[in-house]
Amino acid sequence: MSDPPRTLVTCALPYANGPIHLGHMVEHIQGDIFVRAARMQGERVDFVCADDSHGTPIMLRAEREGITPEQLIERIWHEHRADLAGFGIAYDHYSTTNSDANRELTHRIWRALVARGATDARGVRQFYDAAKGMFLPDRYIKGECPNCGAADQYGDSCEACGATYSPTDLKNPRSVISGAAPELRESIHHFVRLGAFEGELRAWLDERRAAGGLQPEVLNKLAEWFGEGLRDWDVSRDAPYFGFEIPDAPGKYFYVWVDAPIGYLAAFRELCERRGEPEAFERFARPGPHARMVHFIGKDIIYFHTLFWPAMLMGAGLRTPDAVHVHGFLTVGGEKMSKSRGTFVNARTYLAHLDPDYLRYYLATMLGPTLVDVDLDLKAFEERVNSHLVGKFVNLASRCAGFIHRHFDGRLAESLPEPESAAYAEAVDRLRPVRDLYAARDYAQAMRRIVEVTDRANEYVAAKAPWAIAKDEARRTELHVVCTQAIALFRLLACHLKPVIPATIARTEAFLAEPGGFARFDATDAPPLGRRIAPFEALMTRVDPKAIAAMIEASKDSLAAPPAAAAPATATKPASAPSPPGSKAVEGDAPTIAIDDFTRVDLRIARIVEAEAVPEADKLLRLVLDLGSERRQVFAGIKSAYDPATLVGRLTVMVANLAPRKMRFGLSEGMVLAASDDRGGPFLLAPDAGAEPGMRVK
Ligand SMILES: [Zn+2]
Repeated sequence: MSDPPRTLVTCALPYANGPIHLGHMVEHIQGDIFVRAARMQGERVDFVCADDSHGTPIMLRAEREGITPEQLIERIWHEHRADLAGFGIAYDHYSTTNSDANRELTHRIWRALVARGATDARGVRQFYDAAKGMFLPDRYIKGECPNCGAADQYGDSCEACGATYSPTDLKNPRSVISGAAPELRESIHHFVRLGAFEGELRAWLDERRAAGGLQPEVLNKLAEWFGEGLRDWDVSRDAPYFGFEIPDAPGKYFYVWVDAPIGYLAAFRELCERRGEPEAFERFARPGPHARMVHFIGKDIIYFHTLFWPAMLMGAGLRTPDAVHVHGFLTVGGEKMSKSRGTFVNARTYLAHLDPDYLRYYLATMLGPTLVDVDLDLKAFEERVNSHLVGKFVNLASRCAGFIHRHFDGRLAESLPEPESAAYAEAVDRLRPVRDLYAARDYAQAMRRIVEVTDRANEYVAAKAPWAIAKDEARRTELHVVCTQAIALFRLLACHLKPVIPATIARTEAFLAEPGGFARFDATDAPPLGRRIAPFEALMTRVDPKAIAAMIEASKDSLAAPPAAAAPATATKPASAPSPPGSKAVEGDAPTIAIDDFTRVDLRIARIVEAEAVPEADKLLRLVLDLGSERRQVFAGIKSAYDPATLVGRLTVMVANLAPRKMRFGLSEGMVLAASDDRGGPFLLAPDAGAEPGMRVK
């Protein structure tokens, strides 16, 4: 028992289907602070994560982009890694679930489950898209809600009335992928019989209840699930699927949720191999107190991490999670993040406008050990960072460092008299609990403690008024003591803030000429007497409210806030950029959108019932469109191509949910669709015979 236990810490694997956003960052920042603080307590911690790279959405998105899934996940992996590094998340290894290590481990665990008799295979009836040639996941089927009749609802739940159901209950179901009416087909699926592990899972739960590692809310949730009975888990998907094929089951693939958590271990195995100690992985994976496995996750995936995941590990005789730390979701201004309000902020959009340490600090002041949601109140964000970090913390050093350089050659005093010496020791004692608060994930409490000690230090400086003492040549020794004490307290605080704002503290370490940086919390148990410090430079600037506003503006969904030029008329583009020779003149530069983005555009068949030229405008016609249930006025830039009289009576397609736009000649309440480029146009779109005003285009 010579080695201290080795702890593996993980965050949930981001899905390789879209960018990292601030919702993800709550967890990565929470985990990163935990890891950095544990290391400063002298613990041996490895921190890994990976992209979750399998599943239907990735397969379909790659297909839409005309690339292979491997190309897609490679590109996203680079983006994710850069975003996480931008926030200072210090993973020892960031992998992908589409790796050889993960395939091997997944096969190993699966074979152990099969050998134990904990698996099963049986026929399942499921919707099949014959046009596309694939079985449809619930989210890829839409239809009318069986409960309230609302149109356009997903296969698992209704957004209008909240009912949950199975896709076979939907009325008029259709495939989101091809639009075809799906048919029910039977196929063999593989299952893990969770019930086979009930005894072991209950024992694991009791152990965790006694030893810690699961929050009370999670223990309650688990008791509820045990009460409902553990159901078999469907772990297979039929080809075509992007993932790992199940051994001895051709055409059957592991459902993405099987190999995603195994990816934690596979990433760690890769890390051990990269370090040239492959045996360290097997030693870690053996159950026992010589190591710990700690997961940080969101509250939506508790079931996977506290039932499925431990059961798979039990089946293979591997270490089960020693702790699963669950956090709530991020809200912005008390509401769900929203693309139309600009509060759905991607990591890189944030990084383009604001210092990552701002967010790390703000979230630390909000995060406790519970599952409650974390609210990003942008006003509080600005005020708290400016007040705590810039006004109180940095200010402590900036007010005193100049005197040290002006009068003492940059050198701190060789000793501290009383009461300064005792006051320093007291500050150390007051900050000591912060170390355990980090370990307990009560960062909010830790930050309060740090602010409290910062306030006391500033009170000391204010009472001593070094700027006044400095005017009196005879009081140089006193000035030296006051400024040394202030810098020493600043250093003590910096050390305890290091897990939260590492980039700022790296600059602080340079200012303090801290050899090797603060490797441990106890590095500051004694003041840095006699040390020569570097000239003070701004360690952090104030939050600029304009930068926050710019970030929100940049996050606004282009569909919700159309550019002015597109609003009134047509899809006409300036005919200024001729196509390169041989090109098909297809605009390939629009960003990829999800099907949901597209369905947010309400396209309707409309009949043109009035059309007339707008005399004051060269290009515009005023149209009145009949949508069946209502009439809309739209100004369309098609005057050059159409005689108004020939348009009346025609059917076309309009965007019906475009925000109305006030123009000089009246209100434009939508937009008609037309095609054009340098070869001609605009050409109004028209539906095939049979379409009626008001029908939705999708
Ligand atoms: Zn409904």
